[in-house]
Amino acid sequence: MDRLDEIFRKSDSGMELAREDLVSMLSMSEKSGMDRLFKKAYEVKTKHVGRKVFFRGLIEFSNICEKDCLYCGIRRSNANTKRFMLEKGEILDAAKFAFENEYGSLVLQSGERSDAFFVDFVDAAVKGIKELSGGKLGITLCVGEQSEETYRRWFESGAHRYLLRIETSKSDLYRRIHPADHSFDRRIECLRTIKRIGYQTGTGVMIGLPGQSLEDLADDIFFFKQIDADMIGMGPYIVHRETPLATEAAGYGNEARLDLGLRMIAATRIFLKDVNIASTTALQALNDTGRELGLLAGANVIMPNITETRYRPSYQLYEGKPCLDENSSMCKACLKRRIEDIGETIGFGEWGDSPHARKKDGKSTRTAETK
Ligand code: SAH
Ligand code: SF4
Repeated sequence: MDRLDEIFRKSDSGMELAREDLVSMLSMSEKSGMDRLFKKAYEVKTKHVGRKVFFRGLIEFSNICEKDCLYCGIRRSNANTKRFMLEKGEILDAAKFAFENEYGSLVLQSGERSDAFFVDFVDAAVKGIKELSGGKLGITLCVGEQSEETYRRWFESGAHRYLLRIETSKSDLYRRIHPADHSFDRRIECLRTIKRIGYQTGTGVMIGLPGQSLEDLADDIFFFKQIDADMIGMGPYIVHRETPLATEAAGYGNEARLDLGLRMIAATRIFLKDVNIASTTALQALNDTGRELGLLAGANVIMPNITETRYRPSYQLYEGKPCLDENSSMCKACLKRRIEDIGETIGFGEWGDSPHARKKDGKSTRTAETK
């Protein structure tokens, strides 16, 4: 029995995997080993969450951001980005598209702001989406760190999932990739608050950051468990030339970056089993079929971009973002074909909560059955 068999057997028997086990999976660079790893992750996915893919229509509604993360293309200090913010009507039009196309739920994402105008705007958008869909469209927010009062207000207005990536669970690495006034402790506190309020809680990291080791990534997977995440959204770190971190990035070529991203998805699936894991656009930026590969490595959620095409070039967190010139209908047709090609189905019209979140239903988390 080789090392991978030993790890799979341990995982099948319900024993908790150790840090060295996760590191062994993450370091599997030879092709046949990787294929076995992805096959195992797919088996765990099939057993615990099924072979259905859930769509979250992604609306990137503004690139105005108060923060200055050293890796991000829309950071405050990047003067070469044309700033925009959608009108509420434009958000509702995109939501209508999602509803009519039975996407089940959507994600509102933007740069981070905490001023009263922004808080009211998001609140009105959430209420508007609930109204136009008769409460049927699920809403995930991904708009950064906010006060407890704000998180609560948006939850009460109808948002039920919140995505806040920890970016890296290593506090020293976090400090290296953010300016001094960005706080790791505050980010964790926000995640706890989001959870306490009753949101289905999503977090994740960037994979392949300069100075990040495989041990760090293994610890990230432990962090997901410790924070009791319902969903994971993570993807390869991709350089954006107009950011300070660009000068430090070295080491990984695109293929190695993609493979590591896929191994991280597989190891997370094998370890956490019943959560939702997104196959993120950053995977597709590295390889045309990156998102399908993500599904085959254990992911079960895809976030098709439904933002109006003309805004997409201004929302570039990293370089090489795909689908800049495809409108939402083209994205849908292309994705549907790609998903059916790998033998999976799409959970049209469903919220697609993770079994992990559903297990807590009635206790603290708002799921489709409790809406
Ligand atoms: N402002 C919000 C949401 C938008 S940014 C927030 O930061 O939470 C969404 C995610 O984009 C971030 O969490 C980060 O993980 C990712 N991101 C930013 N720059 C990136 C880059 N260069 N490569 C890969 N992912 C990046
Ligand atoms: Fe702003 Fe989010 Fe980019 Fe940081 S990662 S600069 S908070 S948009």
